[in-house]
Amino acid sequence: MANSDKIIIIGAGFTGLSLAYDLALAGHKVLVLESMSNVGGLASTFEVEGERLEKFYHHWFTNDVHVMSLIRDLGKSDSVRFRDTRTGVYFGNKFFKLSRPIDLLRFKPLSLRGRLRLGLLAIRVRFVREWMRLETTSASDWLIKMAGEEVYRVVWAPLLRGKFGEAASEVSAVWMWNKLKLRGGSRGKKGGEQLAYYQGGFGRLLDDLVEGIKLHGGNVITDSKVTGVDVENGKVTGVHTENLSYLAENVVVTAPLPVIADMLAPHISDTSLQKLKRIKYLANICIVLELNRSLSETYWLNVNDPSFPFVAVIEHTNFEDKDLYGGRHIIYLSKYLPETAELFQMSDAEAVSYAVNNLKRMFPEFNLDWTLNASVWRGQYSQPIVEKNYSELIPEYETEVAGLYINTMAQIYPEDRGTNYAIRQGREMARRMCK
Ligand SMILES: Cc1cc2nc3c(=O)[nH]c(=O)nc-3n(C[C@H](O)[C@H](O)[C@H](O)COP(=O)(O)OP(=O)(O)OC[C@H]3O[C@@H](n4cnc5c(N)ncnc54)[C@H](O)[C@@H]3O)c2cc1C
Repeated sequence: MANSDKIIIIGAGFTGLSLAYDLALAGHKVLVLESMSNVGGLASTFEVEGERLEKFYHHWFTNDVHVMSLIRDLGKSDSVRFRDTRTGVYFGNKFFKLSRPIDLLRFKPLSLRGRLRLGLLAIRVRFVREWMRLETTSASDWLIKMAGEEVYRVVWAPLLRGKFGEAASEVSAVWMWNKLKLRGGSRGKKGGEQLAYYQGGFGRLLDDLVEGIKLHGGNVITDSKVTGVDVENGKVTGVHTENLSYLAENVVVTAPLPVIADMLAPHISDTSLQKLKRIKYLANICIVLELNRSLSETYWLNVNDPSFPFVAVIEHTNFEDKDLYGGRHIIYLSKYLPETAELFQMSDAEAVSYAVNNLKRMFPEFNLDWTLNASVWRGQYSQPIVEKNYSELIPEYETEVAGLYINTMAQIYPEDRGTNYAIRQGREMARRMCK
């Protein structure tokens, strides 16, 4: 590829922006087109009292090395903050701490044997070497084998069901193993969980990344929804939006697979199209409440009560200082669900009222008067469902059209999606293209 080639990247999430940054750095002429009015995709932000906040809660694990390496390359390592976190579980109408190994020993919903087996599971996952051997096993069968029926029933079944709903039984052991390994490995020196955040939030990092792209001659244009790719004699020649056409030698699409499928449908075989449509996704709804007081001391509360309709209650301001948000306490209520689900389809006002009523059951003293503002965010393609034998479902990076590539969240494997892997994937693609 000659250095003057123009490369168009569709989507300004972390995948598209990391790819653009490395290509621009290598001297290529890159243009990123983004349909939304701001960059960041699932990690994009909105404003709370003048400070940007992620629409969907975000943090990093201490072992998210690809994020840290990009931040180092941007010369911004000083902006990363590592913090001890307070994690808890809501079970049987009670709250339990679950941040440090000692909390596990006090976790009463499990028998002593169950607590030990849960602790052992956290250690055993680190020694799984040949993850490919887990591909044919479901997460539930694997968890029962590794930690027993009781641990599965009390701890993992509600979380799997809470996250994947009806699809929980389809989830692969590989997905579960990786989640446990990554989250369990995100620990400080004293053994407690540590997580990381960027000073100024993910929005500031996105700004730094866009600035880096522009500094090296690239460009990022928002409010530009690509409606199709242009192909001549089996080779990509550009893309078009509703009003404009752009010429390009190479195009990389980082949108979710169903969007890619629609875009590529006129140019690829039916077999390839079916492969692009095969992986299923869940949507997500996050209701963000800005309160005038705190709900609890916990940052991350896993909900192991099937009657509560959200899988986690995340008090962001028990992680990042509330003073940044004008003293407001920020609460996320998160739910993964099919896009056809009633909650996903509700109006914003209905969704907030539903969330508030349920939160009152968990925190009876909570009162609607505490709520200064509420916002509702929906992601249609938020979580690919990592089924058994997922490696066979993942589409290739190359397509049948010369010069047209796909680089999307659902290709991340055996790890699950996340900004760390979006960055890894974007940068790997840049290396491959530069070759
Ligand atoms: C509830 C929730 C919580 C999360 N928490 C964390 C966390 O704590 N830590 C973490 O690291 N990750 C987290 N993630 C995951 C993380 O946000 C994603 O993995 C990552 O942002 C994906 O980046 P991406 O660029 O691959 O995809 P996306 O962010 O989906 O970006 C794709 C972009 O393509 C654009 N696009 C789509 N179609 C078109 C078109 N036709 N024309 C132009 N542009 C188009 C979209 O608007 C979007 O901006 C979370 C995700 C969710 C849903």
